[in-house]
Amino acid sequence: MNAKFLKVSCRDCSNESIIFSRATTAIACGVCGATLTNPAGGKAQLVGCNVVETLE
Ligand SMILES: [Zn+2]
Repeated sequence: MNAKFLKVSCRDCSNESIIFSRATTAIACGVCGATLTNPAGGKAQLVGCNVVETLE
């Protein structure tokens, strides 16, 4: 499968985080605690962040 890492920016505080595209747990922003992704069907669904860059 095509797993990737994504650099994302929190919509609430703009903090940038690196997340795994197939993360199977919810990931929270390390600064403000907002939920960034929820697991959905074996991949991370982005809920509170925008993708800045895809890291191959
Ligand atoms: Zn944040």
